[in-house]
Amino acid sequence: MLENEETLTVMPLSGVGRALAYKVDEQLGPKVSVGSLVRIPLGNRSELGVVVKKGDDGEFDRNRLKQIYGMEQPFPVVGEDGLKLARWMAGYYSCGMEQVLEVMIPRAVRRGMGQKKERFIQLASNLDPEILKTLTKRAPKQMLVIEFLRDQAARDNWPRALLLKRLGITGAVLDGLVKKGLVDETREATERVAYGDGTGDIEQVGTQEFKLTEEQSAAAEGIRKSVQAGEFGVHLLHGVTGSGKTEVYMRIMREVLTVGGGIIFLVPEVALTPQTVGRLRARFEAVGGEKVVVWHSHLSDGERYDAWRALATGEARVVVGARSAVFAPVENLRLIVVDEEHEPAYKQEEVPRYHGRDVAVYRALVNKAVCVLGSATPSLESLHNVNNGKYKVNRLDKRIDDRQLPLMHVVDMRREKGGRIFSGLLADKMQDRFDKKEQTILFLNRRGHDSSLNCPDCGYVALCDYCSITLTHHYHDRRMRCHMCGFETSVPPVCPKCRSPKIHYKGSGTQKVEAIAKKLVPHANIVRIDSDTMRRKHALREQLAAFRQGKIDVLVGTQMIAKGLDFPNVTLVGLLDADLSMHLPDFRASERTFQLLVQVSGRAGRGDRSGEVVVQTYMPSSPPLQYGRQQDFDGFIEEELDHRKEFGYPPYRHLIHHLIRGQSVEKVEFYAKQWIKQVGPELKKRGVEVRGPAPCPIERIQNMFRYQIWYFTSNVSKLMPYLNEQRATFKWDPDLIEIVDVDAVNLI
Ligand code: ADP
Ligand code: ZN
Ligand code: ZN
Repeated sequence: MLENEETLTVMPLSGVGRALAYKVDEQLGPKVSVGSLVRIPLGNRSELGVVVKKGDDGEFDRNRLKQIYGMEQPFPVVGEDGLKLARWMAGYYSCGMEQVLEVMIPRAVRRGMGQKKERFIQLASNLDPEILKTLTKRAPKQMLVIEFLRDQAARDNWPRALLLKRLGITGAVLDGLVKKGLVDETREATERVAYGDGTGDIEQVGTQEFKLTEEQSAAAEGIRKSVQAGEFGVHLLHGVTGSGKTEVYMRIMREVLTVGGGIIFLVPEVALTPQTVGRLRARFEAVGGEKVVVWHSHLSDGERYDAWRALATGEARVVVGARSAVFAPVENLRLIVVDEEHEPAYKQEEVPRYHGRDVAVYRALVNKAVCVLGSATPSLESLHNVNNGKYKVNRLDKRIDDRQLPLMHVVDMRREKGGRIFSGLLADKMQDRFDKKEQTILFLNRRGHDSSLNCPDCGYVALCDYCSITLTHHYHDRRMRCHMCGFETSVPPVCPKCRSPKIHYKGSGTQKVEAIAKKLVPHANIVRIDSDTMRRKHALREQLAAFRQGKIDVLVGTQMIAKGLDFPNVTLVGLLDADLSMHLPDFRASERTFQLLVQVSGRAGRGDRSGEVVVQTYMPSSPPLQYGRQQDFDGFIEEELDHRKEFGYPPYRHLIHHLIRGQSVEKVEFYAKQWIKQVGPELKKRGVEVRGPAPCPIERIQNMFRYQIWYFTSNVSKLMPYLNEQRATFKWDPDLIEIVDVDAVNLI
């Protein structure tokens, strides 16, 4: 009979959906621990698994257990905290624990990658003078190496490859020296240091620590108390744009590092936050020698492995990255910062469909750490948690140096001459800024030249062949593109339906804005930044650097450039169409519009001159515009929360989004209705409100028809087991795909 110590409980990463028991031999047994990555036999395959427990539950016959093959990494790949987090996520977000483990453990680590070994050459400690003498005569090249190494007193350890290159010799020369015992060759691990390099956009900025303002000190003090107490806590740092939130984060970070703690710093998207990364580096790496590991999607496997390893071994204690960095194996984690916590980009739109901010809060809970959520426009979810006492709040209401928040002009486009893209006011102000050598940023959240191709005679609109959305005209290559699936086609010379030549474009995109701006201010240097123009690596960095140096007068872009930019010479910001985000069929449309107004205007007046914002709209009396113009955050939030409460929308209840899709619209509709017939009554009994099934706002994407059902509940953890059990037993048509998204953000 086997002893319990000789068995392990392992969660296979291959989608078995449950943990299994294995045997482990005496030799390996003591080395394996909870969180170890092991290779296991599964059926007749060999698979990876994570040890979730030493010993087993006695569920399987111990004498018939298979033996694990071995350990893939020398140290555990997930901590106890990680396993706890994975279990919670699997339950909450309705997915397999192995799917969570898969995102937690980088591919490079799963592949069993190790550190890169390099060969190093060193002068032997005792050089035999007899042998040396013979070199000069018989092996001058070998002598050359010895002399070189002797001369380079400052460095005694040379990478072999480098030495060969420097001296222009072949490997045989070195091998000969090794044989004679004159030099030693060793193999050592090296680091593929590319930390951050791959983002390509990092700017080094000031290293000096500022004297905090009164507001900043008060906020830092409040958070510091929580950190010192060593207890779980969440702080919302609600500070207007330019109020110095980053400075507060950095002060707390310094504190945490002093007591030996580790830090995760989350940003919505690393590629867009070069300034933050630059500031953290300048403060901690350049001065304190504290390595700041950057975690982003452009890292090679090798770089990612090294970054991961540096954190797992405690060699590095600070990681900056997008949402998946929330899983980084940081030692003694004491602080998680979630910058721009309101950003929808924190939500992952594939399995596991987690929200980076919410996972950060849960991870802080598991680790008894402090989580700081920062934003100028906090999400209603976080504000609600402040109101009900779950989160503490610290406010920064003033900009640094008492700089004024920009003056906002709301222009009613109904009063402008028909079909104009630029109001008279915006055009005049652009010219004025150009004359004063000040800079302008123009925002429009739509790429391309025009939004759609319409026929005035028959009403034809050019649609994507596979999605139910209009195609967008891209001027530079005269193609029509679908922004949903990438389908493209050429522009028809006449209406494809009625052959009318009057077919024309309606609406406008960033390309058109750029073209018209060039006509309005002909001598200005105008540059467009959007995902079309920024495909080239480093293009964004180059353009932003040129803008900073004043080589560009006007920057035109999508929301992509609205985030976190800090350019002191920008005194005018134009938002060309504030209504775009208002018209989305999403209950968060108002919130998003308000956030956009505040974030966008936060780009103006960051230097010593005050800024102005021109917002163009056809609905100037809508609440986000009214409150936004007054910069009345509290007023907007109060009204919006009332509205949400009335409808029982988040944050008052959780929204679970159920998507059912397939190629046949009849099947999709039929099965969605059958499903609700089956579970509807029980859901009602459990106090869950059901809306739908109904077609999604975008009814068809990539030739798949889409129906949705919304479930509103106050208790996700209680509802999910029932829902999952029913989904597993319901007889779905095999052609259909159904997806459940908890706390859904994307409702289109
Ligand atoms: P936010 O993140 O709230 O928009 P930042 O942290 O970017 O604000 O700060 C805005 C600007 O003010 C930055 O250029 C920053 O270096 C500067 N700053 C922040 N705190 C101070 C301070 N206490 N004294 C002087 N300048 C500061
Ligand atoms: Zn027509
Ligand atoms: Zn499409």
